[in-house]
Amino acid sequence: MKYRARSFAALSLALMLSACGSSQPETLSILAMDTAMTFSVYGDDADTVLSDASLEVRRLDALLSRTNPESAVAHLNTGDQIQVGEEVCGLIAAAQEYSAATGGAFDITLAPVSTAWGFTTDSYQVPSQEELDALLAHVGMEHIHLTEDAATLDPGTQIDLGAIAKGYASDQLGALFQRSGVERGWVSLGGNVLTWGSRPDGDPWEVGIQDPAHPDESSALVCSLFLQDAFAVTSGSYQRYFEQDGKRYHHILDPKTGAPAESGLVSVTVVADYAPGNGTMCDALSTALFVMGEEDALSFWRSGTYDFELVLVTEDGRVLVTEGLADQYAPAEGSTYVFETVS
Ligand code: ADP
Ligand code: MG
Repeated sequence: MKYRARSFAALSLALMLSACGSSQPETLSILAMDTAMTFSVYGDDADTVLSDASLEVRRLDALLSRTNPESAVAHLNTGDQIQVGEEVCGLIAAAQEYSAATGGAFDITLAPVSTAWGFTTDSYQVPSQEELDALLAHVGMEHIHLTEDAATLDPGTQIDLGAIAKGYASDQLGALFQRSGVERGWVSLGGNVLTWGSRPDGDPWEVGIQDPAHPDESSALVCSLFLQDAFAVTSGSYQRYFEQDGKRYHHILDPKTGAPAESGLVSVTVVADYAPGNGTMCDALSTALFVMGEEDALSFWRSGTYDFELVLVTEDGRVLVTEGLADQYAPAEGSTYVFETVS
């Protein structure tokens, strides 16, 4: 069996900094939420903001991690009725909203199914259909019962906020930047990026979308996006997977089958302007639209339910960019992908 661990370069930020001394950022890299994260902040208070950012992400990791037995989520998963608090309940309520909006493609109750595939333990295996069917009986957002500050799960149901937690963390960091009066900077939480303000020279930040065909080369890009005051979140089947008997099994599961989603997509990037909650939205939608596939993802975008733009990379080498990004992307040099603007 072959497997590879999570790639940390789902999105990479290609930064072109001005050499001018006063416009150098302070930068901090940490490992949290099973992810290599980098924060970069400009301005006099940058050091304080960076240490606050690190504390905030570690606080959220300790609250939301399913594999940390001390976390609120792990306690909830033991089956007790738990006063998880308003923050966790708010995040579960957001997950319920995105699940309903995407026809169930987003589902945080897939946790036991993900465990059966070994994605939480790194001891990968292909479960039998019988095992999956038994677990799927406990999957579905209707198995979560929520009040403002407490939650209960039906017996056999467990939750995993992994598809939304980094997005929520990026929202919290945006709020911190706002409170602290940060003028410019960015955060990269694995595949979740927030660009804040513009570059010192006034241009937008350049955010590279990883080439799914070369997940280990962080310089191998599909295209660059030029963004300011925006979230960009990528979900891809190349980020975490194992191979058995010549078949690849990745970590984004289709709630209908309990198996890795086979939607014809290899990566989905969701982009939205900075606004409170949009980091969470982008994270939830990048996972859900990956499951839904090209056609349904684009119909969902066209429906206007939420305000966002998309870059879809398909298995057959196409890159679909929604029209709101038409002036904000550039294919990587020498790219062999075929780019199409979608309206
Ligand atoms: P990553 O966490 O790798 O950046 P995602 O945001 O797409 O990527 O989240 C994937 C994680 O979410 C999986 O590792 C699993 O824990 C969980 N998950 C898998 N499929 C779904 C789904 N359909 N809905 C919600 N969560 C999912
Ligand atoms: Mg996600």
